[in-house]
Amino acid sequence: MTPTTREDCLRRDAADPLAAFRAEFALPENVIYLDGNSLGALPAATPGRVAEVVEREWGRGLIASWNDAGWWDKPRTLGAKLAPLVGAAPDEVVVGDGTSANLFKALVAALRLNPGRRAVVGESTNFPTDLYVTQGAAELMDVVERRVDPDNRAALAAALAAGDVAAVVLSHVDYRTGALRDMAEINRLARANGVLTVWDLCHSVGAVPVELAATGADFAVGCTYKYLNGGPGGPAFTYVAHRHQAAARQPLTGWHGHARPFDFAAEYVPAEGASRFLSGSQSLIAAAALESALDLWARVDLGRLRAKSLALTELFLELTERAGFASVTPRAAARRGSQVSLRHPEGYAIVQALIKRGVVGDFRAPDIMRFGFAPLYLRYVDVYDAAAALADVVRTGEWRDPAFARRRQVT
Ligand SMILES: *Cc1c(COP(=O)(O)O)cnc(C)c1O
Repeated sequence: MTPTTREDCLRRDAADPLAAFRAEFALPENVIYLDGNSLGALPAATPGRVAEVVEREWGRGLIASWNDAGWWDKPRTLGAKLAPLVGAAPDEVVVGDGTSANLFKALVAALRLNPGRRAVVGESTNFPTDLYVTQGAAELMDVVERRVDPDNRAALAAALAAGDVAAVVLSHVDYRTGALRDMAEINRLARANGVLTVWDLCHSVGAVPVELAATGADFAVGCTYKYLNGGPGGPAFTYVAHRHQAAARQPLTGWHGHARPFDFAAEYVPAEGASRFLSGSQSLIAAAALESALDLWARVDLGRLRAKSLALTELFLELTERAGFASVTPRAAARRGSQVSLRHPEGYAIVQALIKRGVVGDFRAPDIMRFGFAPLYLRYVDVYDAAAALADVVRTGEWRDPAFARRRQVT
């Protein structure tokens, strides 16, 4: 195969059917942003939308905006807008709270639906909050927790077949390696064994097509501030399959999840549908930022998104392999999310040196340099230039500057 040149990349950008979306983001000049898997970029329409909610809905509408601006129903209207991105029906998704809180609610609900079974299966190397929340829920519900490597199919199959497993918590895309799990097959395996699935979609929503309903997923949660570009700390979402909505009982039984909240009744009665997974009031300012992003997503063809995502990660893998880097990301397209993770013992300093040059990735201990590829605002030529900068930083030893070794609070 002839190596890809910078001119090839410029030609691919000119022919890219998603190219126009880049202009809908307010990106800083001279930055190649490869960290949209951690915090998505700012959609250009978002500041205006947030200002409108603050000045008009809050400032002038005041308390009437709970009715007039649709504030009370925002968790449901945003859920309906998000639903097509995860292959769900509009009333299977609600938006509110954070991923950690939603994971806790969904997992406890799943465990309660399977009361005769006293174990939960998680991943040995999932994102820390998933590990900690699973621990906490297991302790509360008095079930044992087991951990497996979900990319070891035999081990996962054996764990799900143990006979006493109520639920399994899995990330659809691994935050560290970028491995994409076969949701359809795992859902099938779980169902055959009477196990309920709780999927974490943080690194797949807005990055790969997700088919929760068609593949038979039971519950799912995910954040909106990564590939969805919903804004820092934006509200997360919860998916509850139709078939579980009537029986599911989540533990944080607040008034927003009540059947008739304005009765101000003394006893809790869960709302119909996924609304019972709500708890209390949400930030409507954060919701405005998310809504702006979701309105942009409504115009995105997810098939084209996936095709470009794979082309971008393939290109970065090709260029970095040629420069001698070792990747921990699956080489097979069907098993890859939208990131590439390279292993290097000096990864932290190298990433800092790259950031100094305007190429923004991040680092995950102990030795992973992580590069996320958001197809809506990245160009092929950005991938080319980023790979060239990475090779240059290592070749010249630029990263050895002691300033790049100083660890900051957020890596
Ligand atoms: C980013 C991420 C989270 C974030 O959880 P918060 O509650 O939003 O802090 C959780 N799980 C995974 C797998 C993630 O990648």
